[in-house]
Amino acid sequence: MKASVIQALLDEPACSHNTKEKSGCARPAPGATAGGCSFDGAQITLLPIADVAHIVHGPIACAGSSWDNRGTRSSGITLFRTGMTTDLSETDVVMGRGEKRLFHAIKQAIDSYSPAAVFVYNTCVTALIGDDVGAVCEDASARWGTPVVPVDAAGFYGTKNLGNRLAGEAMFKHVIGTREPSPAPPRADGLPTFDVNLIGEYNIAGEFWHVAPLFDELGLRILGTLSGDSRFHEVQTMHRARVNMVVCAKALLNVARKLHEKFGIPFFEGSFYGVQDVSDALRSFARLLGDADLAARCEAVIAREEARSNAALEPWRERLKGKRVLLYTGGVKSWSIVSALQDLGMKVVATGTRKSTEEDKARIRELMGDDAKMIDEGSPKSLLSIYHEYRADILIAGGRNLYTALKARIPFLDINQEREFGYAGYTGMVELARQLVLSMESPVWAAVRRPAPWAKQRGPGSELVA
Ligand code: SF4
Repeated sequence: MKASVIQALLDEPACSHNTKEKSGCARPAPGATAGGCSFDGAQITLLPIADVAHIVHGPIACAGSSWDNRGTRSSGITLFRTGMTTDLSETDVVMGRGEKRLFHAIKQAIDSYSPAAVFVYNTCVTALIGDDVGAVCEDASARWGTPVVPVDAAGFYGTKNLGNRLAGEAMFKHVIGTREPSPAPPRADGLPTFDVNLIGEYNIAGEFWHVAPLFDELGLRILGTLSGDSRFHEVQTMHRARVNMVVCAKALLNVARKLHEKFGIPFFEGSFYGVQDVSDALRSFARLLGDADLAARCEAVIAREEARSNAALEPWRERLKGKRVLLYTGGVKSWSIVSALQDLGMKVVATGTRKSTEEDKARIRELMGDDAKMIDEGSPKSLLSIYHEYRADILIAGGRNLYTALKARIPFLDINQEREFGYAGYTGMVELARQLVLSMESPVWAAVRRPAPWAKQRGPGSELVA
């Protein structure tokens, strides 16, 4: 991978912060690699393409550290959940057998699973020894007639976020535009169909299935997603959409920009978290498609769904009203979830902004007021001290903070990609409210905070010797 390609991705012109004096994405500080390497980011982005054989070309640990680490769901085939790797050893490296092993691995994947395509992920070791992954993929593709796509995002190229973009580049270069979509079947209600894409939507815990029926009802056919519950042939047709929605802007804005430049597809950034954001996203589709009838139908659907979700949320709102939240998540989600929690009547006392852009922070200030506590440093110690200082009732954060919360015996809700429940869409909001109540009202907190019976009998500190 040429350094200039990496630099171009870091200077993504469509990022709003690049219009400012200080341009370019933030570079990681030494030692701040927690959160994954570029390879990890690339695999996270593409792994949800369910009918593809994903082969990690490198030592087995690379595959182990990234396999299935997002709770993405597929509505059919689950080939993506089969971990595949060339499992290179020192001997293979010394003997120069990397490319040969890769060629055989591709053959084995095709013979065993007949995948729609094979994706080959480069890793640090294979990039350093100079394996020509691109040439092997080309040869294998010509030999067996199955598309074999190189994803050159070795770990040392940079951050997880850079890996997301490199994966997007691979799709733009090798996959998108290689097939035409089939004509949309006529609808029973006679309404027209509009082709759209979702970029950076990963169907975590199946949450997009909360929103998909609304798209069907409005006649919005999702040609392809990058990449939740998608299939290879769908990604191939993404160049024919009329509008793109960028769900995770940090990850794949480069793809949306390039689709705009090359195929003239307009895009907008949006979110499916919170009632207001779902309604705004549907309105944005109608606006960019410029169809008055669609806009009117959209308003009718929004009014119906908002009324339904408000009714369903009412009993939960009563139990959540006034509860104080310490939120520690990043990027777009920080403001999106702040507004969703406020909508439930909760007070967000502090929020994490480590991964947020200046625009995200401005939006948080708008929502939470100027005295909003923004947390840049999320060590367990500082999170707990803020939790107690601000008298929070629950910590909402990523899975890695789960044990911080459990050890401190405080209610916790997992909001990141490893979570078990989907919170997108109008019905996802009801699920979010339910999970918040279940966590905060769980009897386990009172039980674990109570002194142990032997501690009561023998006095404070005696539990240490029991
Ligand atoms: S940093 Fe390199 S060796 Fe480590 S997981 Fe990423 S690609 Fe593999």
